[in-house]
Amino acid sequence: MAQKTDQTPPEPPRRFQDFLVLTSGSVAVLALLFLTGAIGLVEWVTGAVVMTAGALAFYVGSAPNANRIREAPVLETPAIAAPTSRPNEIEQFILALPLPALLISSQGQITAINAHAQGLFRLNHTNAIVPVAALRQPDLLAAVDRVKNDGANERVEFTQHGDAEVWMAHVRSGPEPRSVLMVFEDLTAVRRAERARADFLANASHELRTPLTAIGGFIETMRGPAKDDKDAWDGFLDIMGQQTERMKRLVADLLSLSRIEFSEHRAPSTEIDFVETVRKTSLALVPIAKEAGIKLHFDAPDHGIAAVADEDELAQVIQNLASNAIKYARPGGEVQILVGTARTMADAATASSRQSQDAKRSLLLQPYASAEAPAVWVRVTDDGAGISEQHLPRLGERFYRVDESRGGKIEGTGLGLAIVKHIMARHRGGLAVESLEGHGTAFGIWMPRPRHDDPAETL
Ligand code: ADP
Repeated sequence: MAQKTDQTPPEPPRRFQDFLVLTSGSVAVLALLFLTGAIGLVEWVTGAVVMTAGALAFYVGSAPNANRIREAPVLETPAIAAPTSRPNEIEQFILALPLPALLISSQGQITAINAHAQGLFRLNHTNAIVPVAALRQPDLLAAVDRVKNDGANERVEFTQHGDAEVWMAHVRSGPEPRSVLMVFEDLTAVRRAERARADFLANASHELRTPLTAIGGFIETMRGPAKDDKDAWDGFLDIMGQQTERMKRLVADLLSLSRIEFSEHRAPSTEIDFVETVRKTSLALVPIAKEAGIKLHFDAPDHGIAAVADEDELAQVIQNLASNAIKYARPGGEVQILVGTARTMADAATASSRQSQDAKRSLLLQPYASAEAPAVWVRVTDDGAGISEQHLPRLGERFYRVDESRGGKIEGTGLGLAIVKHIMARHRGGLAVESLEGHGTAFGIWMPRPRHDDPAETL
């Protein structure tokens, strides 16, 4: 591609004016010399002829040459500069791209590659020119050949690093004939989100279908075989009522989850009294604990602790953790809700779920806030059967229920801990669980508190 490098517009031809100026100037000088008597008539005529001939020679020869010298770079630059400057430009372009990209020459060599693409294909020999086969992706190599031969653009999806990553290669013709340019787009997160959404929909529909099927079955029975058996109707209506409650809980949890996920990227901005919110929520649970035959203990500093939090969401966290503890505590057992502050988030992580040396621990949510930030924490402990180690890391996944393996005796949606996890993520906080089978479970949450509020540490 020849490019004109000199953009100056060509000057209008001035050679004839130059010739006239030169000739008339010379004749005028000679005339002055003749008039002052410095030269004679013969010298005057000879001089005028020589000057005119010189000016004429300038007009037909030298002047065009002068212009050619000025134009020469304009004509010759593209021919010389193009082959050397173009690869540098494309190489700079590839290096500057925030996506993996590389250029393949017509001989099948990778002549330009950026660090992102080197990482993607684990090609670490920076300066060596390697053959395209080093990409070790048969589908990609076939696409490179096709683009090289046909010039048509292609897109190829492939997995990399043991199927852990999904990538899309955009394969295009390069700037040189039969060269190929490739840019890679990471689809891993997109594919993962698509799969999670499909799983979530499948789970949610399954969970809603179960009570609906039960209700539908009882309606059929009441219309058909049990049409006249009014005594059996009370029992059927009770079960239908329970199933309706279950569906209501499920829908409420699904709505909470989607609302929290929607606002998760925006941290709360209101300052609340953390202790007071946890105290109020705990008190509201006393009747439920009483009904279940469980003693509920609440222990917190006797002064307020400021925290930047959403009061309703914090209340929902405490309610979900404490109602689980009440559900899973041993019959006639105890549940403890403890509030404390810590100098750092790292200290709070330990304090919030510290229970016993033998207990197994799992960090369910790594806090986004700095480990050095001052923190406030809550620990909810029960004395129930505990949770075996293999289940701990999966708590907080939507619809994950340990009870399924215990025969599904205790009612639940499997969404309570997922809601806690998302609320704590919005509050830049953490979530951990510690459990000892046969002894009980402790769930801990912690989050940063403003630096201006620095009461005596409870640790
Ligand atoms: P669910 O509505 O089923 O309680 P959660 O998300 O709150 O849903 O809890 C998920 C699972 O974690 C529960 O089904 C239960 O198996 C287990 N779990 C939660 N809290 C406790 C606890 N305190 N003790 C024992 N198991 C618990």
